Formats: sequence, C-alpha cells, structure tokens
Amino acid sequence: MSIHELNAPYEQDPTYQMAVKQLRDVAELIGLSAEVVEVLRHPEKLIQVRVVVKLDDGRLATFIGWRSQHNSALGPYKGGIRYHSNSTAGETVALSMWMTWKNSLAGLPYGGGKGAVRVDPKKLSIRELEELSRKYFAAIAKEVGPDLDIPAPDIYTNPQVMAWFLDEYSKISGYNAWGVVTAKPPILGGLKAREISTGYGVALVAREASKRALGGFDERTVAVQGFGNVGSYAALYSAQWGARVVAVSDSQGGIYDPKGLDIVKAIEVKSKTGSVINYEGAKRISNEDLLELGVDILIPAAVENVIREDNATRVKAKIISEGANGPTTPEADKILYDKGVIVIPDVLANAGGVAMSWIEWSHNRMGCILTDEEALSRLDKLMTQNFHRVYDEWQRKYLDKPMRTAAYAIAVDRVVQAMKLRGWI
Ligand code: GLU
Repeated sequence: MSIHELNAPYEQDPTYQMAVKQLRDVAELIGLSAEVVEVLRHPEKLIQVRVVVKLDDGRLATFIGWRSQHNSALGPYKGGIRYHSNSTAGETVALSMWMTWKNSLAGLPYGGGKGAVRVDPKKLSIRELEELSRKYFAAIAKEVGPDLDIPAPDIYTNPQVMAWFLDEYSKISGYNAWGVVTAKPPILGGLKAREISTGYGVALVAREASKRALGGFDERTVAVQGFGNVGSYAALYSAQWGARVVAVSDSQGGIYDPKGLDIVKAIEVKSKTGSVINYEGAKRISNEDLLELGVDILIPAAVENVIREDNATRVKAKIISEGANGPTTPEADKILYDKGVIVIPDVLANAGGVAMSWIEWSHNRMGCILTDEEALSRLDKLMTQNFHRVYDEWQRKYLDKPMRTAAYAIAVDRVVQAMKLRGWI
C-alpha cells in the first residue's frame, strides 16, 4: 500500500492543513513532484507518549505529549517543546515542518522538529511541573540527543524546564549532555542573550524592512500582539531602535497610546500584575482591535491563525513581522499581498531564537565560553544578512508573490537538494 492510501490521524488538523497548503504552493512554483511533496508533508517520525503525574493532592493526572521529527536531511532535528492546553498531534507536526524550513532558510546545520504536551501549565505547582517535564523527557529520551534531536523552549516552557530536561537526559545517558537542549540557564551552558534573541530578531527584521520599504525605522509606529518572551523583547528593541510602540497586548487584552508606550514600564506592570492591561494612562483595546490599528508595523507575537480571511482586509499596517509561528493564514496572505502589505514570514522573522540556540549548541560542543556581546553580535549579523538575502531574492525572482513564497522557495529547495545528495529521493 502506498502512503497515498494511508490517512495519518493528524491530517484533519487545520494548522497542519495550512502548513501543507503553503508547501504545495511553493512546490508548484519550484517544480517539485507530487511524490516529493508527499514525502515532505509527513514527519519522518512522530512519537506519542503518555505522562502520568502524581498531583500534590495525591490524585493521578495523565497527559498526552508528542515529538514530531519532520526532516533530518540537513542535520539533527531542532525545535522547541511547548506546553499548551490546545496542543494537538497535527499542530505539532505543522510546527515541526515550519522548523525544517526555518532552520534551512537560516543556513543552520539542522533539520526540523517540535514537541508538545497537552497541558495548562498554569494549573500545575512547580513540583508537578517538574515531574511532568522529567517524565515527558524520560519518555522521549531514546529519541533525542546532541546529534539526533535537540529541543528548546517554546510557548510556556523556559530555561528551568530545559534544566530539568538536561538533568533527566544526563541521568539516563550517563554523561553531562550539554548539547541535548538549548536555551538552558546560563550557569548550565546557556547564554543569557538567548532569552532576548527571538524578540530581538523580530524587531531587527522589522527595522531592516522599514529601511528598505518605508525609508527608515525612526518614529514608525508599531503594534505588538502578545507580550510573552517574543512580543515583549520585540517591543523593547523596536522602541530602543527609534520606533514608536503605540500598542501591546496579552491574553487579557491590550493597551494603546498614540504618543507611544513606555515598554520598560509595560514589562514591569506585566511581571507585577500578570497583565499589561494594568498599565495606567493608556486606552484599553481588544486583541482584535490591535490587529486593525492604523500603524506602520504590526508584530503578531502570540499564537497561530490570528490574521485570517475575515479580518485581513481591515489590517492597515504596511509591514507585518511574524513573531509567532503561523499567525497569518494562506487566504489572509493573499489579501495582504494584494493590498501591498509586506509580510515578513515567521520562518524568517522569528529565526533569532533557533539561531541563538545554534550559537549556544556549537559552543557547548566545543566546550567553549562565549560572552553575551559576542553572541548577540553574531546573531545580529546572521539575521541581518539573512533578511536582505531573502528580500533581494524576493525582489529579483518572486515579486509577483508574497515574501513568504521566496523564503519557502529557498528553504524547501535546500532541503530537497540535501535529500537528493543523500540519495533519499
Ligand atoms: N521554539 C523556537 C522556535 O519556534 C526556538 C527553537 C529552538 O531554539 O530550537 O523557533
């Protein structure tokens, strides 16, 4: 039986379908055969585990988790692990496919992978979270490793969770395996600059795109949806580099001040009270309103599928820098392109995190120490070069399509070339 006849259980997932649609569009453009698309639209391996945690009150709770290893033609699988109550196998597969393209586009020696546990981590105590993290990682330990699959944080996971992963893996493997995860706490081989790196890169590409398309970044207005790790640093660096951040939001809602927000204050308010909505002196707005503000630059840095067919026509920004993975649907992409909006795709815009992960990992492997300044300057160079390379290629060859198409064409082609050289296809 050929794979065409197999119906993988994740195929109905809308995020997965969106990733496949993007792949099919680019395949047509660069002339990939249906067979190669069939190979690329599935992960090489999808691991599913059940994790049983003994809760503080003595009850048992069972959680389901996945690790999707999409493609390893360019190197070990690489990508984060998220803890989210809406996670599904299909979403995890889609995210792992996007990691393949992201790592390829950034020229990193990695394939793509992604993991998830379906859990609301906010409902767990620290001890419960530690038990969940250790048991999940123990369950996938045979399938990961510094040369095999290197996880990192994603939504609601952080350096502390990476420390538990590292420790669990080191116990099982019998050695200190620094290279098995990235974004570790600095004292355990991580880099302090990793924390800011994704948001830094998202702001950096917005800045570079503004220079090319809007004549500069100074005083350009910016709205940021999502104020977690990515959104907060994207807002902070945008402000630091001269733009005016007029709106930010988190899951509870948003704030707007046309004169510009004090981002340091917003970060403080968020960490003290749990939400930016408690920032005083700004107008309260909803997450939906934020996307439709009359700003120059919009940074969706929360979750998938927020800019869709039904609201894309109302987006007024001239540039969108995708901090989140998959915030714009393919239908919305087309509408935005027709309106002349430049969408810097996620695989390009938010690659700063995984690029910094690579800097950390390569130094771990050599046993070297790197200062934060050195790490950040290397990231800056990599992201800047990468952005202009893709932008130029877009202008030169694919201007009749969204920038995402140019990014995908470069990324998918590199993976396919590696697969051919290895004799896989
Ligand atoms: N989770 C991040 C992403 O989606 C980072 C992955 C990594 O550092 O491996 O790109």
